[in-house]
Amino acid sequence: PGGGGLALLGLAPGAPSCPHGPALLFVKVGQAKEEGRRFYACSACRDRRDCNFFQWEDEKVSETRLAAREEYNRNHQPFFTHRQNVERYKNFVLLPLAKRRFCQECKQLLLPAEWEKHSDHQFLCDISTAQLKSPSQLLYPLENKKTNAQYLFADRSCQFLLDLIIDLGFRRVLSVGTPRLHEMIQSKASQEEDFRVRSLLLDIDFRYSQFYTEDEFCHYNMFNHYFFGGEAAHETCRKFLYQDNGERVIMVTDPPFGGLVEALASSFKKLMAMWKEPEKEGHNNQEMPMFWIFPYFFESRILEFFPSFSMMDYQVDYDNHALYKHGKTGRRQSPVRIFTNLTPSMIVLPVEEGYRFCAVCQRYVSSGNQHCEACNSCTSKDGRRWKHCVLCKKCVKPSWFHCNNCNCCALQNHTCEKTDAGCFVCGKAGHKRSTCPSLSHT
Ligand code: SAH
Ligand code: ZN
Ligand code: ZN
Ligand code: ZN
Ligand code: ZN
Repeated sequence: PGGGGLALLGLAPGAPSCPHGPALLFVKVGQAKEEGRRFYACSACRDRRDCNFFQWEDEKVSETRLAAREEYNRNHQPFFTHRQNVERYKNFVLLPLAKRRFCQECKQLLLPAEWEKHSDHQFLCDISTAQLKSPSQLLYPLENKKTNAQYLFADRSCQFLLDLIIDLGFRRVLSVGTPRLHEMIQSKASQEEDFRVRSLLLDIDFRYSQFYTEDEFCHYNMFNHYFFGGEAAHETCRKFLYQDNGERVIMVTDPPFGGLVEALASSFKKLMAMWKEPEKEGHNNQEMPMFWIFPYFFESRILEFFPSFSMMDYQVDYDNHALYKHGKTGRRQSPVRIFTNLTPSMIVLPVEEGYRFCAVCQRYVSSGNQHCEACNSCTSKDGRRWKHCVLCKKCVKPSWFHCNNCNCCALQNHTCEKTDAGCFVCGKAGHKRSTCPSLSHT
């Protein structure tokens, strides 16, 4: 309210917990009244209706309230445990096709004894083995829910990622928030004898526990590195990373595009540290290879936390994202890219989609991305041809013009900013507080 924002301070030791694990510490900014006041809020839910956990940092919480909160947290765990869901699945696949039902309202596989309870719900019948192998299709879509919004990779992009992973020689994929990639791997592994890649899915969407064993899926919150399954789940992940000395593992993640880059980075560093733990010779000074799939306008934020990363030009497409998919007529440009700590020249992009190799930059770039002699690099971020501004000494978007007032390039109809002071929140130039990428807006 009041145009104020929130800045993330992060995961504080001793933070209180909500049903989604330890809450994150935020600070109110730019609001006269409560400016600078720090508080805890749910790490996972962008929508207050999904989790309304809130506590001022300096608030005294009574024993009674603490006890009530603990009980609340316990009661807000899923009805079935993962173990129970695995058992249910075993029973489900024994059923004849005619008795295999999936409740579309509860997004749940139903055993015959449960039909009654869901009698006035819509359900799907004759759930085939093929359907069980693509749970993301059964569970889809969840777009209406802000917190769990799932933007599924278009087949083309998912296949591209998997082919790339295979060509790079990886054998294990830690799929963090990439259920579609996970299911493509799982499904090939069960069908093709010589398919060697394995995947472990970490995701906050517990419904996947209906389809995967405890070795294939961990209920995980990537904003606070919280394993809902406790030490056992932690150990599953650790074991997965340690196999074969930790060699040939890659982590692939496609987080929700909120503003919490810092929280994500901190969790990913913990996953990287987990991979490194056994101090085996060989990868002591290396980082776990990673693909972080995220919009290009977060480039500077990601590089701030992972200086070894670079952004690839490949445009990741989605099935159910109106903006981010190929249109039926011609190509809609997706802003989503792959950030990686692998050597850019190793990431071969499909020539048949117009990508070409730039020998100077030593990486594949999109067809519209022209090498700029002045910048000595292929400078386009969005796939369009950018133009060099001699005054700014850099390439800018094709729609921008140099403004002598602002002394930088901007849209023709921009309102001039007299002050060149940086952003109030992060101190950087180029944006104002209201659009600071480190803010999550109320
Ligand atoms: N493109 C991917 C899906 C990305 S959508 C694919 O097709 O596989 C974002 C994913 O992150 C969803 O699966 C969602 O359930 C998961 N997610 C959202 N918030 C999360 C959180 N806090 N922790 C872990 N996973 C989360
Ligand atoms: Zn139901
Ligand atoms: Zn180049
Ligand atoms: Zn240039
Ligand atoms: Zn300029």
